[in-house]
Amino acid sequence: MMETILEVPEIGFEITQKIVQQQLVLILHAHACQKQENSYSHDYEVHGQEQPKEKCKLPFCEETKKCLDHIRCCFEPDTCTLTHCHHNREIIRHWKICMKKSSCQICRPVYQAQIHSIKQRRRS
Ligand SMILES: [Zn+2]
Ligand SMILES: [Zn+2]
Ligand SMILES: [Zn+2]
Repeated sequence: MMETILEVPEIGFEITQKIVQQQLVLILHAHACQKQENSYSHDYEVHGQEQPKEKCKLPFCEETKKCLDHIRCCFEPDTCTLTHCHHNREIIRHWKICMKKSSCQICRPVYQAQIHSIKQRRRS
């Protein structure tokens, strides 16, 4: 018997769902990672103490952070030659407008992982 093919929301470019998910995880991580880095330097300014600034060891984190920086200041995405610029933009846009993350084929695993980590953080 054939399995019913699950509906995948339109995301605008043809790469597999798995890659989109991995990229989404990376984007969300890089975003949080940047925030954390900024708060480190803020602590340094406020307390004048050297903070143990841990360098993130996640593969592609640096790259993704650079890409996020680029997206923030790229105002001509239509003519931009960076492939990642287009892809990540689409992914971020999907994540932001996706209203049914808990049932969306792309967002669901990422969304559930986030909820899980928030719960864990609250507990500790
Ligand atoms: Zn990181
Ligand atoms: Zn660009
Ligand atoms: Zn979604």
